[in-house]
Amino acid sequence: MRILMACAEYAPLAKTGGLADAVAGLSGALYRRGHDVRVLMPRYGVPEPEGWSVKPDRAGAEPYIELLAPEPGPRVFLQETPETHANGAIYTGDDRDAPRFLALCRAACAMPDALGWRPDVVHCHDWHAALVPALLERDAEERAPPPRSMLTLHNISYQGNFAESVLADCGGGDVVALAGDAGRANSAVSFLRIGIERAGLVTTVSPTYAREIRTPGEGMGLDAALRERGESFLGVLNGVDYRVWSPETDALIGTNFDSARPEGKQDVKRALCAELGLTGDRPVLGVVTRLVEQKGVDLLVDALPALLERTRACFALLGSGDPALEGALAALAAAHPERIAFARGYDEGLAHRIIAGSDLLLVPSRYEPCGLTQMYALRYGTVPVVRATGGLADTVAHFDPDAGTGNGCVFEHADPEAVIWGVTTALGWYEQGDAWRELMTNAMAADFSWDRQAARYETLYGALTGAGSSGGGARS
Ligand code: ADP
Repeated sequence: MRILMACAEYAPLAKTGGLADAVAGLSGALYRRGHDVRVLMPRYGVPEPEGWSVKPDRAGAEPYIELLAPEPGPRVFLQETPETHANGAIYTGDDRDAPRFLALCRAACAMPDALGWRPDVVHCHDWHAALVPALLERDAEERAPPPRSMLTLHNISYQGNFAESVLADCGGGDVVALAGDAGRANSAVSFLRIGIERAGLVTTVSPTYAREIRTPGEGMGLDAALRERGESFLGVLNGVDYRVWSPETDALIGTNFDSARPEGKQDVKRALCAELGLTGDRPVLGVVTRLVEQKGVDLLVDALPALLERTRACFALLGSGDPALEGALAALAAAHPERIAFARGYDEGLAHRIIAGSDLLLVPSRYEPCGLTQMYALRYGTVPVVRATGGLADTVAHFDPDAGTGNGCVFEHADPEAVIWGVTTALGWYEQGDAWRELMTNAMAADFSWDRQAARYETLYGALTGAGSSGGGARS
């Protein structure tokens, strides 16, 4: 099957969070299952990572630039137009994002003609590509029906809402007509709503999040549009690319280990503590996250004084975002340098080392569409302590030491007391050696491989195109 992925992020080329990992993981798995997968994303004006290069022969198909990856995989095209650059930033978070992603949507629609390659399915990710289904349908020639379309919602709080005047000013006057009455309320046009209404199928990244966002309490204004889609809106859990996130092969963690040789984890932990200046010989709790309200980091900030007092744990924290949260974490770390380390910024290597070397990983999200770090943590024997929401609830089961079941610690409420309960409960298990070993074994047995989850998407593509679910013959 020919599949075009239209997206804003793709690891390792452009990443601010899970979207990049998810699109790259799914695309790679589909490629290995024998499909012709191509990816289109904007060129942000950032240098290509090591091993990647621009294909010299551009075959006169501007604005599409093909990148050559270090290994065989999906073909990646960048769309380069004046709108795509914003000083190397992936998002500006303001009206300047409208022309950039409008340009991406138009480029995705024009790509089949420009490259002489007609996809069976255009799979659009998040609001950045959400206009594609409606544009394809509108511009279809009578004799050539448009490719089928799918929209995946990685996080519905980012909707791409712009005033009609903003769109009109950047040549998007026609987009206003694509929005239904609800989409034009308050004279703002929502890219995401248009996609939800018009895509052939709509998916999101976990079954629980799919249920949650159908409700007014969590649907961020889009719940009615999602309910309207009935069975053509569903949740498919994200997967993990274990080629990138596996303790036995991870090149970024210093010492490799696996469930048969778990001792190596202690070396990674020792090196992590030394790197961050933390006291050794104590349980380490890690956090790797964007610092935004969604992630509940403020709950940790409020819980930390009590956790310092009531437990002997150290805290290895990495993140960037909200300056108030950055300031609060930096102040706590400065006051307790041997127990709390806070690295401000985005650091792929340190993210791997914290996830691999910590004993616990805390994810106290208010809501979480899927969440990847808890799935990564499981594989490294790092026990996740999570709030029961979205994909966290679908991937982490509360440990029962008597029955020996469960792979982490799950708490209910989005408040500091619940965080304290979750962390102290998990630390209680840590202090009982046998229970902890059992819990670590359960955690490391988790298998959320993309290879398996990609088969779910394959079935959905098949349903969209009426082609059944056959691939093109697996590549090894
Ligand atoms: P979200 O997409 O909402 O940010 P996910 O858990 O789905 O959350 O994905 C987060 C991804 O981003 C993970 O790969 C995580 O390791 C990475 N990440 C988040 N913050 C940082 C950071 N400060 N430095 C490095 N990687 C980060």
